[in-house]
Amino acid sequence: MGDEKYRVLVVEDEATLVETLDYSLRRQGYEVMTSGDGRAAIEAARRDQPDIVILDIMLPGLDGYEVCRILRQETNVPILMLTARSDEVDKVVGLEVGADDYLTKPFSMRELMARVKALLRRVRMDREESAVVAGAPDVVTERMVFENLVIDLSRREVVVAGQGFHLKPKEFDLLVFLARNRGIVLTRDLILERVWGWEFDGGSRTVDVHVRWLREKIEQDPSNPVRLVTVRSVGYRFEG
Ligand code: CA
Repeated sequence: MGDEKYRVLVVEDEATLVETLDYSLRRQGYEVMTSGDGRAAIEAARRDQPDIVILDIMLPGLDGYEVCRILRQETNVPILMLTARSDEVDKVVGLEVGADDYLTKPFSMRELMARVKALLRRVRMDREESAVVAGAPDVVTERMVFENLVIDLSRREVVVAGQGFHLKPKEFDLLVFLARNRGIVLTRDLILERVWGWEFDGGSRTVDVHVRWLREKIEQDPSNPVRLVTVRSVGYRFEG
């Protein structure tokens, strides 16, 4: 990890707010990229691979919802949405298209920094875990707890209703990926890419088969899953 700076992509067309965000984020030690419209933002995200995206809803061209939907098909980057209205609908739609969190304008910089930090924790977990895979000596002692389901990341073990057991490697990776992105609909293609990797050339049926196996192990009633939910004609969502 070292002193590598986190890269923040700010997508907002309001110049004064962009300026404030840019200044505040840099002061906190972040590397900041900015984009004033939706299409340019998608290009920037593809090119610069930010660690987090701060995304306004009201944008020229593509709006924030569309940008979010498109980015979510391609990347797992945390997305913090900004909305001008405190409307419940905005929040619901925002989360439906895959935003991880949202903030209503006007907000304090302090509040924004807290949200950014919380979302980046997820990135840090991902990076630490790949470090462990690569043989680094640090051990991640982390558990994800969802009522009767515990995912022990350091032991790569799952505990269901008090009973611990090991999953096949891909089953475990899939479960962790889904759990990390709980509440977000994940397409089969994205799951394939993230869990199996680009080089994998089996079809997306692979995902379905592994989800079925997982359900048999972690769902109380595998034919009526409440944890690994199917989103018709799209993919899957983990309910946390
Ligand atoms: Ca705007």
